[in-house]
Amino acid sequence: MPIYEYECRACGNQFEYLVLKNTPPAECPECHSQDLGQLISGFSVSSEDMTRANVQRARRERLASKDYRDQKVAEAEEIREHSPAAPLPGKPKRARGSW
Ligand SMILES: [Zn+2]
Repeated sequence: MPIYEYECRACGNQFEYLVLKNTPPAECPECHSQDLGQLISGFSVSSEDMTRANVQRARRERLASKDYRDQKVAEAEEIREHSPAAPLPGKPKRARGSW
């Protein structure tokens, strides 16, 4: 949806206007003057750029979530390594005949 910036030549008010069905704003929302000029908006991007940005963002999010998952796995493994080893069942704690 294109958002255009307009400037009211009567009062100098600049406002963004969401252009629906190519209908420009009829009047200034501040002073209701109809002497409006359209500004060149720096925010206007082509749909191709939008798509590319969305793809890049989705890829970043996917990578981030993968990193997050890997980090959680690494943390779990670290906890397992650092936790005291439980005595294995079925084996005596002391070797027989050690003294
Ligand atoms: Zn105005």
